[in-house]
Amino acid sequence: MKFSIKDILRPNIASLAPYSCARDEYDGDDATFLDANENPYDTGYNRYPDPMQRELKKRISAIKAVGEDMILLGNGSDEIIDILIRSVCRPSGVDNVVTFIPGYSMYDVSAHINDVEVRSISLTPSFMPDIERYWQVADGNTRLTFICTPHNPIGTAVPLEDIELLCSKSKGLIVVDEAYIDFSSIPSAVTLLDKYPNLVILQTLSKSWGMAGLRLGMCFASREIIAVLNKVKAPYNISSETQKIALSLLNDVKAYEERKNEILRERERLLAELEKMSIFTHVYASQGNFILVRSNHCDEIYKYLVDNKVVVRKRDIPPLIGGGIRITVGTPQENDLLIDLLIKYNTSVE
Ligand SMILES: *Cc1c(COP(=O)(O)O)cnc(C)c1O
Repeated sequence: MKFSIKDILRPNIASLAPYSCARDEYDGDDATFLDANENPYDTGYNRYPDPMQRELKKRISAIKAVGEDMILLGNGSDEIIDILIRSVCRPSGVDNVVTFIPGYSMYDVSAHINDVEVRSISLTPSFMPDIERYWQVADGNTRLTFICTPHNPIGTAVPLEDIELLCSKSKGLIVVDEAYIDFSSIPSAVTLLDKYPNLVILQTLSKSWGMAGLRLGMCFASREIIAVLNKVKAPYNISSETQKIALSLLNDVKAYEERKNEILRERERLLAELEKMSIFTHVYASQGNFILVRSNHCDEIYKYLVDNKVVVRKRDIPPLIGGGIRITVGTPQENDLLIDLLIKYNTSVE
């Protein structure tokens, strides 16, 4: 397939002379560093971090089976979404991005901050991207198409064939947000990277790896795309402490697996309990670490839980998920607390 990121770059990005930081020029670590106006006295943090996060990428590359030069790290996926928009979308009504709704609202927010037009398409009744409709809505100025799989907040997964179809026919970038992929039984689109030069995959350490507080998002794409994004990102966007802690947590795969498997067991237990309650009109099986339920009493249930100091997320988005509440899978104790409260509520209204 003929695709080059160069054909869709904003002109100012295509001609950008990137900021060159002192640490780009010399990459050893055994020299006397008088190049970056750092304070020479060791506070633990007096040196600038590695702008390319090489150690961390080496580890992520091994875990994800993606080349180190096909990885960009961001201050959360949210930073990467912003970098993508700023790199390829000319603002003020020229280019556009396509999103599917209901969905993760950060794509829309980030586009709006950048004054980029958003074209939203409703998911199908079975919560899949409406591909038929897509070809009517997308045009030659559609630079980015965001696909979230497993989907937040519904928890459904998009088949890889649909992603391949979009990649093969679209002239822009297809951005597949796999924030919840580690909780799912579906294969990652990472295996398609060699086949589709316009495919961009987002993953994060925030969810399955338990590092939301660190802020580390990952982007996997062709070397050509990653090289552009590297030019646009802030030079020192990941702090040295973040790099260090992430690396040590990524090395503890056993603890990661244990936590993840417990969440998966609890997800199925929670699902079974929620399905028994008549207050919910719908309870959706999920490939993520959350479950979407729907109720005709969603406001009352939400308030009742908050009054009992349990906070869930209201996702009351008609028509597709009217009355929706998204519940994150907690620890067994947290889930017990939630289930007990909901059983009490359910009996009181029956
Ligand atoms: C949680 C989440 C992310 C992760 O965002 P970070 O900025 O990496 O914490 C990305 N996409 C979706 C759909 C999410 O739900």
